[in-house]
Amino acid sequence: MITLKKPKIVIVGAGYGGLMTTVRLQKLVGVNEADIVLINKNDYHYETTWLHEASAGTLHHDRVRYDIRDVIDRSKVDFVQDTVVEIKKEEKKVILEKGEVEYDYLVIALGGEPETFGIKGLKEYAFGITNVNSSRQLREHIEYQFATYNMEEEKNDNRLVIVVGGAGFTGIEFLGELTNRIPELCHEYDVDSHKVKIICVEAAPTVLPGFDPELVNYAVSQLERKGVEFLIGTAIKECTPDGIIVAKGEEEPREIKAETVVWAAGVRGNSIIEKSGFEAMRGRVKVQPDLRVPGFDDVFIIGDSSLVINEEINRPYPPTAQIAMQQGEVVARNLAALVRDKQDLETFTFDNKGTVCSLGHDDAIGVVFGKKVTGAKASFMKKVVDNRSLYMIGGAGLVLKKGKFNVF
Ligand code: FAD
Ligand code: NAD
Repeated sequence: MITLKKPKIVIVGAGYGGLMTTVRLQKLVGVNEADIVLINKNDYHYETTWLHEASAGTLHHDRVRYDIRDVIDRSKVDFVQDTVVEIKKEEKKVILEKGEVEYDYLVIALGGEPETFGIKGLKEYAFGITNVNSSRQLREHIEYQFATYNMEEEKNDNRLVIVVGGAGFTGIEFLGELTNRIPELCHEYDVDSHKVKIICVEAAPTVLPGFDPELVNYAVSQLERKGVEFLIGTAIKECTPDGIIVAKGEEEPREIKAETVVWAAGVRGNSIIEKSGFEAMRGRVKVQPDLRVPGFDDVFIIGDSSLVINEEINRPYPPTAQIAMQQGEVVARNLAALVRDKQDLETFTFDNKGTVCSLGHDDAIGVVFGKKVTGAKASFMKKVVDNRSLYMIGGAGLVLKKGKFNVF
């Protein structure tokens, strides 16, 4: 009797893209058709799109994560908790911290990393909103500053200055949560709220560059009302142990003293991509329409480490969870086709359902199916979107366990 070797599919990264690929693939292929291995740094998945809440302390970090084993079919998927160190694509091998794994097909879904543009001091002194560890550290740091303020005889007002670098969606969503959290912190640590300063520094001439101007005005006025000072057209040039150096146009660079600097000014692809010798632009690989890497028919890249061009404007789509999940669905179908020896693969087309940006748990702005929404309605939509991604990965059970139901 001849036993045919089953193809081995390895998926690295259990974020939106990787987990979506896994849960779809485990439904599409039988145990006898393929071996599926999912590798992730942690044994949990975190909702990256909720990290601004964990970072500000408005949602506990355990609410934004869940056990990967709870959503995979363990009879079909072998989960390995390990960190990818490098991908040897010519040898079809993934090098891990604790070993190595060979593959027939590989899906790289390792997410992105903060883009620091080489700005001095950011890596050393600024906080990021990147994963559970960084969010937990940022929340703790802010709380420590409030807790320490009244302990010192000579008050250091800079402990109560928080700078947010970048007024993209991450910066704005974090500011929305932070401005809700500050009154609680002031109350908890007996700090005069007038002493707290929140400054958002944005290099572009507007907040949320490229987004609908009417919605941008709404967000800015709501956040200003809650105490945020915006420095627009102003770039962070350096981060120091004492704060930041900013520059606006031709003006002399100046220092802003702050004990907390949060860097939320964009992402690039995972550094494993460049380390592994893939041709990339800011760590992102321009993938083929079927989401495979040019020249490597056995490697798919999805999510923040992939780059897909929006043909309408000839620019890359911004990296989002929405696109990562849609890519995961297509890759799962393409893998199912490949293990059945079908070479005609599906092409990926992004179906943009809109964008909703929260301004705290009770307010938001958005464009959904082409319609503008603000306030409670937009905030409700945001929670629907958050619950929908849980539903798509783990069904109703996961929504009941982790979902957001504070909708009114
Ligand atoms: P991720 O979801 O980031 O997952 C990557 C996974 O890979 C993680 O599990 C990580 O632990 C793992 N990993 C990384 N390196 C290694 C390694 N070396 N070895 C093993 N495992 C590794 N997008 C939206 O569409 N809507 C939103 O509302 C939205 N809100 C956001 C809010 C915030 C605060 C932020 C920061 C982003 C938001 N985004 C949003 C963007 C969205 O979160 C990302 O585009 C999305 O997470 C990308 O998915 P991914 O699968 O590529 O990576
Ligand atoms: P971004 O690239 O969207 O925004 C970064 C901002 O930082 C830009 O406005 C840029 O002008 C500014 N900036 C860059 N360098 C600067 C400097 N030196 N000083 C001051 N400002 C500087 O990045 P992001 O907000 O981190 O978002 C990353 C991705 O995640 C995006 O694709 C975004 O669409 C997505 N995201 C989506 C949502 C949502 O849909 N609600 C929420 C968060 C993030």
